[in-house]
Amino acid sequence: MRPADNEDPFVKIAALIGGEEYYKVARALLNTEDATDEEIASATGMRINIIRKVLYDMFGKALITGIRVKDEKKGWFVYRWRAKRDQAENFIDNQKKKILDRLQKRLEYEESSEFYHCGNNECPRIKFDTAVELFFKCPNCKGSLGMVDNSKVKDALRYKIDEIMLEVTSKDQIQNN
Ligand SMILES: [Zn+2]
Repeated sequence: MRPADNEDPFVKIAALIGGEEYYKVARALLNTEDATDEEIASATGMRINIIRKVLYDMFGKALITGIRVKDEKKGWFVYRWRAKRDQAENFIDNQKKKILDRLQKRLEYEESSEFYHCGNNECPRIKFDTAVELFFKCPNCKGSLGMVDNSKVKDALRYKIDEIMLEVTSKDQIQNN
């Protein structure tokens, strides 16, 4: 499922992590501040054990807090859950920074060498230095290695990196002003 673009970041993140069930629990938490799991159950119609599983997972990911309070009617303790909406923004930013880091490493790798390949889908790409040592013969199928044009891959990586950089930095600027 894909939440609407104008959906609260907290709800979006929940949906990204766990889909429909997380989405419903997150929405219920925003609709009712400090809801108990039973209140969420009656708001969503979901089973309480599923709701608890979702809540504990979100708690573990520091996306919600739980306050232990005594239920005066029943006489026992229950947890009241609250969305940490500022954490949701951080969560998204951290994910983006991780992706950015991966993309940059991949780009560095692609830029580190020329690559050679035999044309056989099951065989790996070989870096130039290794290809020389192998006399341009594929170590897997013994086919001859030809140079791979990875300029499209590099372009795509650069494009994606720019895109995420722009998102991350433009947000930092808004926060600094
Ligand atoms: Zn091969």
